[in-house]
Amino acid sequence: MVHPPDLQQLLRAAGLRVTRPRLEVLTAVHAHPHAEAGAILAAVREPLPSVSHQAVYDSLHTLTDAGLVRAIRPAGSATRYEARVGDNHHHVVCRTCGAVADVDCAVGDTPCLTASSDHGFAIEEAEVVYWGTCPDCAARASA
Ligand SMILES: [Zn+2]
Ligand SMILES: [Zn+2]
Repeated sequence: MVHPPDLQQLLRAAGLRVTRPRLEVLTAVHAHPHAEAGAILAAVREPLPSVSHQAVYDSLHTLTDAGLVRAIRPAGSATRYEARVGDNHHHVVCRTCGAVADVDCAVGDTPCLTASSDHGFAIEEAEVVYWGTCPDCAARASA
């Protein structure tokens, strides 16, 4: 598998050493948005069968801490990982099957960060989760 050189540059720009597990984990998160750690492990083991569970988890944590990967934790669901970072977008989650999709801020650029009352806090992030039923589950329910 060929890695776009920009993923290596992303790692270096974040001050991280470029290692094969980090590169493969970042590639997998780009390829599978909102995947759980187990799915990322499976995706990384395709090109890198010998990689350990721990190496993949460590890479995920390192990439998340460095801001290259965003961890989302819908209530009652395992942590999901995505490579779309820095834009404070939101998520819609299916209550039945756990499917997750991206939702842009309702209006404009990140208006949710402009809280009606910030209580003096310096606000960095707003977390909005829309819960509902995905089209597949809705179709199954009405069939
Ligand atoms: Zn569903
Ligand atoms: Zn997302």
